[in-house]
Amino acid sequence: EIHRHTRGTMYYVGGTIGAILACGLLVTLLGIRIVGRPLQQLIDKTERIGEGDFTQPVTLSGRDEMAQLGTALNQMCDKLKRQRAQIEEESKARVNAIEQLRHGDRLQTVGRLASGVAHELGTPLNVVAGRAQLIAAGQLNETQVCESATAIKAEADRMAGIIRQLLDFARRRKPQVSAVDPRDVARTAVELLGPLAQKHEVALVCDGQDAMFAQVDAAQTQQVITNLLVNAIQASPTGGEVHIGLDAVEATRPIAEGTSDVVAPPLQCIRISVLDQGSGIPETDLPHLFEPFFTTKDTGEGTGLGLSVSHGIVEDHGGWIEVESTPEKGSRFMVYLPKS
Ligand code: ADP
Repeated sequence: EIHRHTRGTMYYVGGTIGAILACGLLVTLLGIRIVGRPLQQLIDKTERIGEGDFTQPVTLSGRDEMAQLGTALNQMCDKLKRQRAQIEEESKARVNAIEQLRHGDRLQTVGRLASGVAHELGTPLNVVAGRAQLIAAGQLNETQVCESATAIKAEADRMAGIIRQLLDFARRRKPQVSAVDPRDVARTAVELLGPLAQKHEVALVCDGQDAMFAQVDAAQTQQVITNLLVNAIQASPTGGEVHIGLDAVEATRPIAEGTSDVVAPPLQCIRISVLDQGSGIPETDLPHLFEPFFTTKDTGEGTGLGLSVSHGIVEDHGGWIEVESTPEKGSRFMVYLPKS
């Protein structure tokens, strides 16, 4: 009797455990199907959103909370996609506007140089006209004709060189960083500004320049040096000197006043300094120098773009500009460009 009772109880307990296990398995399988898979899809989608991938919407059937969450995620992705496209368009427009501004600044410099260049072209043109007249008169022997033709060719090459430099400077081009020797860039800028310096009777002096290389955009660097030199020439008295120096230094970006920036680590930089003996800059003007359209020059003389454009270019290169100035004594602008 006891045995039968025990066996019955065991069957009963075994059956119950079997039923519980079967129910557990069923619940697990249903749970995976109803909750696990959709949840995994939502997790995958969230991870993709986190990585900036707004494609592949989640497709959850049904009308439960999971499906609603999936729809909300899809709608959020659509909105983010539209906003991203808008931001891309706006930043493209901003880059274009900056490029236009820089191009405008280059054209303004070309305008400032034009009268000096016209003057510079006058001398070789006179030589060409004079020599051509001699040849046309037919009074030269063969050797003299050869000499005159050679002189005409040399002067024509000189004029072509001046015009090429000017056009090269004015040309619009895409930013392009490469290994550049800043001395070559400075030399080109000094040559380009020769006529303007002559017109103002100012001497451009290149100080000791070490051999060095930096990863910069050559055309933009030339634009910065040109802007600083034009300002220095314009501020200089007749007979004054403008010095341009280049050296390699280890420097730390200064902390802007009133900010909570931490001290940055020192950088290997090239330093381009432009020193003049001009009118100097009043202390009240110093905080405004790099603001767009800040100018103390007469209308037609200055637009206030040069320093703000230069500042933008130097910042794009990860560098900065420092200014020291003493009214009535002169100013020194120092451009720091990280080597790489
Ligand atoms: P612009 O030359 O068209 O006025 P910039 O942005 O190049 O524009 O210069 C802004 C102002 O900074 C100038 O109008 C001038 O007052 C001042 N400035 C710049 N460089 C010098 C300098 N070397 N000496 C004296 N003043 C300067």
